[in-house]
Amino acid sequence: MIFSEKHQLIRKLVRDFAEKEFTQELLDELEETGEFNWEIHRKMAAAGFMGTKIPREYGGQGSDYLSYAIMIEELARISPVLSIYANTSNSLGGGPLLFAGTEEQLKKYLIPAATGEKILVFALTEPGAGSDAGGVTTTAIPDGDYFVLNGRKTFISGAPMADYCIIFARTDLTQKGSRGISAFIVDMKLPGVSLGKDEDKMGIRGYPTCDVILEDVRVHKSDLLGELNRGFQNAMKTLDGGRLGVAAQSCGIGQACLDEAVKYAKERKQFGRRIADFQGISFMIADMAAELAAAKELTYNAAVLKDMNSKDAPVACSIAKYYASEMCNRLAYKAVQIHGGYGYIKDYRVERLYRDARIMTIYEGTSQVQQMVISASLLK
Ligand SMILES: Cc1cc2nc3c(=O)[nH]c(=O)nc-3n(C[C@H](O)[C@H](O)[C@H](O)COP(=O)(O)OP(=O)(O)OC[C@H]3O[C@@H](n4cnc5c(N)ncnc54)[C@H](O)[C@@H]3O)c2cc1C
Repeated sequence: MIFSEKHQLIRKLVRDFAEKEFTQELLDELEETGEFNWEIHRKMAAAGFMGTKIPREYGGQGSDYLSYAIMIEELARISPVLSIYANTSNSLGGGPLLFAGTEEQLKKYLIPAATGEKILVFALTEPGAGSDAGGVTTTAIPDGDYFVLNGRKTFISGAPMADYCIIFARTDLTQKGSRGISAFIVDMKLPGVSLGKDEDKMGIRGYPTCDVILEDVRVHKSDLLGELNRGFQNAMKTLDGGRLGVAAQSCGIGQACLDEAVKYAKERKQFGRRIADFQGISFMIADMAAELAAAKELTYNAAVLKDMNSKDAPVACSIAKYYASEMCNRLAYKAVQIHGGYGYIKDYRVERLYRDARIMTIYEGTSQVQQMVISASLLK
């Protein structure tokens, strides 16, 4: 894609920020402790990253989807986990509010999320409802001016730091599957909300993930988000945008893998020559470059379709997510291979990229779920 000056400038600004602020020391600390880093969160918020895609009247920058994809890609190129810091408010956290929030809800919850003052997360998955998200069993039963929520949400990114959580719960118990589900904005300080243990993750360490447990949590009816029993549609619309974000993250990881592989192949000597001079290595690098270029085009194309509000955007986001997430795993595999034994050692960047890449084909809809979405659009 040929970028406008505006988009080139956004890329440069984000790249400069990430290269300067995402220091090796910070990245190592995130990896070792697995803990959220408030200092970098505040710096990223001050740079406007939390609200890139959120309209100006709600505290954001009002940028387009293409700018957002470029931002996520550039952040993920240096740190996949820190790209999630900027992604949540723009995507899964802010998305449901943007699609269905009342003016009062947008002012109360979206503005502080866009400025980074508050953290807003998204909870759809349950222990028994992952890919089959319509299988949620969390319930929300009306009681006067309140709904009483009971259930358990699992693998919720950012839950340990969250101020608010968008919870999807069943409000019509007579309905099955995706029908009869509503969305609620739940204050994490409400009585009856508790957290499971922090998950000890393979990758993207430094953005904690845990279960959210709801026991007789009384949520005021003013915090019902969107129409009663229509919450699932909101979750699906939000996930379209989320998939674009994961595609962009995957492109950033892919770029980092390619950069590291090229650098190492030119430095490392065996049999008296640079390993880059062996065709077995140089052809691997050619394949990496070609696959990365294809994934980027799919991702930018999906972003532009979202900006045009095209009816083709949801499938384009699924295709981009599917291809880019699988691509970055293939590239991470090859980058480690090109590093030989050193690629298996934590001192080398590709070791972490390999682990960080792994989640891309899983969260926000596994590759198999994307295949289902893509094939269903063709085979209806
Ligand atoms: C680090 C991390 C962060 C996450 N963050 C969030 C979050 O913030 N909010 C949230 O709501 N969720 C979150 N999730 C949950 C994530 O979206 C789910 O893990 C994912 O959707 C898959 O669900 P599952 O793990 O239950 O796997 P399952 O659905 O049990 O799938 C297991 C396997 O079966 C395959 N499969 C399932 N159904 C089919 C089918 N019909 N056809 C073919 N294959 C199928 C899957 O592709 C997969 O390979 C997170 C998960 C992780 C690990």
